[in-house]
Amino acid sequence: MNHTIPAPINRYRMKVSVVIPCYNEEAVLETAYRRFSHVFAPSAYDYELIMINDGSQDRTFEILSSLAQADKHVKVISFSRNFGHQNAVTAGLHCCTGDIAVIIDADLQDPPEVIPQMIEVYLQEGCNVVYAVRNKRKGESLFKLLSAKLYYRTLNWLSEYSFPVDTGDFRLIDRKVLDTFRLFPEKHKYLRGLFSWMGFKQTPFYYDRDERYAGNTKYTLRKMIRLASNGIFGFSKKPLKIAISLGSVSILIALMMVLWIFYLQIFAHDHVVQGWSSTVITILFLGGIQLLTIGILGEYIGNIFDETKNRPEYIIQEKINFDEPS
Ligand code: UDP
Ligand code: MG
Repeated sequence: MNHTIPAPINRYRMKVSVVIPCYNEEAVLETAYRRFSHVFAPSAYDYELIMINDGSQDRTFEILSSLAQADKHVKVISFSRNFGHQNAVTAGLHCCTGDIAVIIDADLQDPPEVIPQMIEVYLQEGCNVVYAVRNKRKGESLFKLLSAKLYYRTLNWLSEYSFPVDTGDFRLIDRKVLDTFRLFPEKHKYLRGLFSWMGFKQTPFYYDRDERYAGNTKYTLRKMIRLASNGIFGFSKKPLKIAISLGSVSILIALMMVLWIFYLQIFAHDHVVQGWSSTVITILFLGGIQLLTIGILGEYIGNIFDETKNRPEYIIQEKINFDEPS
């Protein structure tokens, strides 16, 4: 029997918040605005386009201000400096007022035209989250494709939770999830992991990812590594356990070498002095393991340090078109 859960909200009164982080995106913003408006203006939904200027150095803020002046649906949050993609999305989610929110990049890699289909899935399934899964990824470098594939699978192996693979931050979340998200005080958020960790009813939505409309990627290798380590160190304690295993294996190897040296001393005394290379290898091997484990510990302690400082995740310099004074 088919149990269809009734749609939770009347679509004609539903408000959709679209959360769009923007960092040095002057080349795409006007086209992006046009495409988003084209999707929502004729629709039955009330909507707001929350565009977060993440401390851009180009004309992003000027363009966003003039879009906001011309159209009250555009709401702008401008940071005091670059706080990073995840913090920009977090600010948008904290400030949005919709019944549902859609997180989407500004560069049009995730086509805005599929959002109504995601809303349909949300209404029909009566779920809390619709997460977008990439069928194809056009225009990405081989390095990015391979590293992403490897990373998502490694994260699943390391973590006790299982996260959907080939899924970015492009997703629809409902008010219940938004309100729950507000209760998360942690810094270094790895959003795609957090939303999946939260549970609730989640439905995948498959789509083809386009090429970036214009400009270059704003995710430098450093930012990618930071995001990846937030995922691993935020959702897994396994690296600490791996450190213990590595230490144990190296102790075992050292003990075996002691036995071997004893054997040489007794049965092959003439060959003993030549062993400098094995000594160097042993020192390097053990030194490497020690540095690695200290590094892993440092990552966790560094995260604890940041949490205890309790600094805000972002600082808003200016807000435009929000009801409350900025
Ligand atoms: N972004 C941001 N702050 C940053 C880096 C990126 O707000 O420090 C935004 C960027 O403007 C875009 C989204 O995050 O809307 C994803 O970035 P990008 O498209 O450059 O990443 P990629 O798709 O290449 O991984
Ligand atoms: Mg992109």
